[in-house]
Amino acid sequence: MRTKQDYIKGLSKMKRNLYFDGQLIDRTDELQMDCINVIGTTYDEAAKPENEKLMTATSHLTGEKINRFNHIHQNTEDLHNKQDMTRMLCQKVGGCIQRCMGIDGTNAIYNVSYEADKQNKGATQYHENFKKWLTRFQKEDLIGCCAQTDVKGDRMLRPADQPNPGAYVRIKERLKDGIVVEGCKVHISEASVADEVLVLPTRALRPEDKDYAVAFAVPGDWDGLKQVVTIHNLRPREHYKRGFVPGSTDSYMIFENCFVPWERVFLAGEHQHGGVLALLFALFHRHSYSGCKPAIGDIILGTAALAAECNNVHKAEHVREKLAEIIMTIELGYAAGYTASDLGKPEVYIPGVGFMPYGPGSYIPHSIYCNVGRCLSGEAVWREAEILCDIAGGVVATFPHEKDFAHPEVGPALLKYTKRNPKMSAEDQAQFWRYLGDVLCSATGGIANVGNYHGGGSPIMEQIAITTQYDIESRKKLVRYIAGMSGGDREALAPKADKKKTK
Ligand SMILES: Cc1cc2nc3c(=O)[nH]c(=O)nc-3n(C[C@H](O)[C@H](O)[C@H](O)COP(=O)(O)OP(=O)(O)OC[C@H]3O[C@@H](n4cnc5c(N)ncnc54)[C@H](O)[C@@H]3O)c2cc1C
Repeated sequence: MRTKQDYIKGLSKMKRNLYFDGQLIDRTDELQMDCINVIGTTYDEAAKPENEKLMTATSHLTGEKINRFNHIHQNTEDLHNKQDMTRMLCQKVGGCIQRCMGIDGTNAIYNVSYEADKQNKGATQYHENFKKWLTRFQKEDLIGCCAQTDVKGDRMLRPADQPNPGAYVRIKERLKDGIVVEGCKVHISEASVADEVLVLPTRALRPEDKDYAVAFAVPGDWDGLKQVVTIHNLRPREHYKRGFVPGSTDSYMIFENCFVPWERVFLAGEHQHGGVLALLFALFHRHSYSGCKPAIGDIILGTAALAAECNNVHKAEHVREKLAEIIMTIELGYAAGYTASDLGKPEVYIPGVGFMPYGPGSYIPHSIYCNVGRCLSGEAVWREAEILCDIAGGVVATFPHEKDFAHPEVGPALLKYTKRNPKMSAEDQAQFWRYLGDVLCSATGGIANVGNYHGGGSPIMEQIAITTQYDIESRKKLVRYIAGMSGGDREALAPKADKKKTK
């Protein structure tokens, strides 16, 4: 397995195709280092003996020890470990750990490429191609990002109906030795610091959308790919440093006349499988949220409790209610993910049919629980910000910059006048308000909230998944029986409950 230093060395050798604020930059540019340090944590922590069970796994392809982020889930324990690893790492960096896109993209493609080959009866080798790619990905301990979201143009038009055919990434040309793709994927997290980019479709596709049913992987600096990056760093500190400084990046990924050889292509034209791939990636990713969102909740809870303590209002009744509200969201989100892991199996839910065997035997978390957990915790983002704002008061918005605290003429006065709780040092209180400003009042904090709300799919997407997959009809039959209406069935839910127990 690699070290963080090996990872950075790898990035330093990549070609320059990153555009930031009108300039071409290197991958190891100082601006990207906060983000690199976040991802670097996944290497540092995996190397610690005490994290071996949580952070490493045995590759089912090679039998070798690999980083869990590059693993294909083989059982429910793997799903539990992925959720717990994500929570543990997000706690350590105080936010998104940014390596989940790779594990979620690889698990989705692993299953769908198998099913597509099966239906094509040997005419395609997507799954073998993917396994070869994955073997190298695991051996070299690479970082993968996942480019799903297309620019999508007019939201009311399907891919093939768009006036701009590149509104969704598509196969522009099929050649003997590969395909040529064009289009633009947007908001792609950590693409500017990833070794490999996994590309897959955004949505369900019709037969006429077949050229949009495309999945492949290319290095982040591949010919025909340009990345326009937004970098989210906190205001730099000189005098009063944070314990950990997180950073993140997102890219617009522009594919123009981009040639992808067949051995890197995992789907090319099978519209039904394209739609399933979009859903399956979203499902794995929503499962990741049941690890990261509880961790972010842990941080928000600690922040709210400390804000109350700084203000010496921590014993007030309304503070207790607000802390309880945050805890309920954290642990319900976690519990949903735990259940999704525990009920995981090599099956997917087909609306109107039920669970069907799917893929070559790797484990898929339970869809309903992934979706309810992600939706609940995603929508809570703004409420949690509201609670922080409420408990903190206005101090967080106008807290003087650090150099004023370091200034001999005004610094001592600032410390004297910003001290609130007599039992906490003035220095600690000032350091806390600086930190809360980063969370609540910075551009980076705002971007994180939008990401936590929309990332993995906006709440409406989870609501669609939940309501199309949940057996509402049986509930209606049950109520018909209880109410004494015609067509009632007292046992409407009983067989399903039994069925769920079989793993
Ligand atoms: C910080 C951040 C990081 C992200 N990281 C990644 C990443 O790494 N990889 C990745 O692939 N994606 C990533 N995303 C993208 C994320 O998954 C999308 O933002 C999300 O799926 C919503 O898509 P959208 O932004 O295009 O919004 P839209 O789909 O345009 O939604 C905007 C509104 O329009 C509505 N709407 C859209 N279409 C329709 C329709 N047909 N009918 C009715 N209403 C409609 C929606 O319900 C919503 O209310 C990231 C996003 C953010 C903000």
